[in-house]
Amino acid sequence: MRMPGRHFLFVPGPTNVPDRVMRSMVIAMEDHRSSRFPELTRGLFPDLMKIYGCRNGEAYIFPSTGTGAWEAALTNTLSPGDKVLAPRFGQFSHLWIDMMQRLGLDVEVLETEWGEGAPEERIEAALRADKDHKIKGVMVVHNETATGVTSDLAGVRKAMDAARHPALLYVDAVSSLGSIEFKMTDWGVDLAVAGSQKGLMLPAGLGIVCASAKALETMKTAKCTRVFFDFADMKRANADGYFPYTPALPLLYGLRESLNLLLHEEGLDNVYARHTRLAEGVREAVDAWGLVTCCRDPRWYSNTVTAVMVPQGINGAHVIDVAFRRYNLALGAGLSKMAGKLFRIGHLGDLNELMLLGALGGVEMAMADVGIPVEAGSGVAAAQTHWRKTDTVVKRKV
Ligand code: PLP
Repeated sequence: MRMPGRHFLFVPGPTNVPDRVMRSMVIAMEDHRSSRFPELTRGLFPDLMKIYGCRNGEAYIFPSTGTGAWEAALTNTLSPGDKVLAPRFGQFSHLWIDMMQRLGLDVEVLETEWGEGAPEERIEAALRADKDHKIKGVMVVHNETATGVTSDLAGVRKAMDAARHPALLYVDAVSSLGSIEFKMTDWGVDLAVAGSQKGLMLPAGLGIVCASAKALETMKTAKCTRVFFDFADMKRANADGYFPYTPALPLLYGLRESLNLLLHEEGLDNVYARHTRLAEGVREAVDAWGLVTCCRDPRWYSNTVTAVMVPQGINGAHVIDVAFRRYNLALGAGLSKMAGKLFRIGHLGDLNELMLLGALGGVEMAMADVGIPVEAGSGVAAAQTHWRKTDTVVKRKV
């Protein structure tokens, strides 16, 4: 049955694609070996590096998704049997660890409560204990989309430095890049992985990896099998603008437009400030409902996704289904261990206060429908109050 009106997409990716970005992708196909093609592609890499905060390294764009970008980061820099250290604190860190194991890496897993972030002290202790420097990589999911937790990457880097350990720092930035501040060079991140469908406000279809100069050095000795995801083949795209295989043309045009919006029109500082402020309003709403977030400590609050715990006796999946069927509102589900225990509100990408107020209103109705005792309008009012008393703009680029 047709659902009239605009669909409210509040899953934490894919996110809303701005109309301008949408239009930029409606193009005739063209020859990706033409002499003009590099005019489009060559500008993308330096701009991506700006989003990553990377001053020394290279970015690669694969026709893929975040999962493919995980694989690219691992296979280009590691050999089967290499030891790596990875905290597991949500479904995405779990899936990345699963991939590492399937690629034949020896993963030391730091089991961590779901709802907490990367445990810096335990990372430091594990690295100090590794006297022979067998651990080649520390793998951290920056923003664990499943639990709404953002880890402190500067803190992880500090822990690694305190242990004087040379391991590379691998980061999943899939649901943080382009929404939450990311300082690849300052934080000493060596490989950072992203996808197109979150903060970059595009459809899914691009897997993006940024590698530090130190990470690129390790390619020379890394023996994991890689073909499609070989950085060596992709390097040409950076150098002369041509890809080793047919690129996802419309997505590249879309990426050009979304980079324009983020970097040159809104400005990254404003993008980050907007996400912070919107997320604060959502958390005020959760508080007003008398509910709690899955994230255990404010220091890990995610500014791109809030996972709301439902009361005992209520199934979070029921809230999501009612929101979808009755109110045309898509919320994120509880994944794996968290199935049924929570629902997630994605608040990243092309979003403003009024869009979020609509979503919060829909969440309130769906929660009341399934028997959660919330006062109608309480969360909406709390978010409104927060947004009215805080500034919208940090500094406007002219
Ligand atoms: N990592 C994180 C943190 C994610 O949120 C996701 C997807 O939601 C992935 C990895 C997997 O990305 P993709 O679905 O693009 O393969």
